Amino acid sequence: MSALSQVSRIRQRIGQLARQRREAERVLLERSALVKGTLLEVQRTCGNPGCKCARGQKHSCWQLSASVEGKTRTWNVPRRYIAKVKELTGNYRRFRRARAVWVRLNAEMRERINEMEAARTVPDFRDECRRQKRCS
Ligand SMILES: [Zn+2]
Repeated sequence: MSALSQVSRIRQRIGQLARQRREAERVLLERSALVKGTLLEVQRTCGNPGCKCARGQKHSCWQLSASVEGKTRTWNVPRRYIAKVKELTGNYRRFRRARAVWVRLNAEMRERINEMEAARTVPDFRDECRRQKRCS
């Protein structure tokens, strides 16, 4: 492959990566709040032998579960907040996906930029200069 066609192939890929990165950045720069964690519906018994839960109709409650400093923590979520918490945990997952994509794209971008530098650098330019006595 000629250096020129290699340069144009790398340029194309860098352009593609830049567009994909802008897409990810669009998500990362949104203003909506993020809530880390997973919302779970938990079925429980209360321990009262006369309760309906003792006959199989368990109580349900909603919990938010998240890792905080390496430990899993859970919080009870009142029913009136469930829709909001679902939305905000969804925002968080979306943000994290976009962040992972951004990091991956950046890593590849760096590789392509290194390739571009190698493809565009004239080899042995100083030798060439010495031969032509244009450089000191
Ligand atoms: Zn019960």
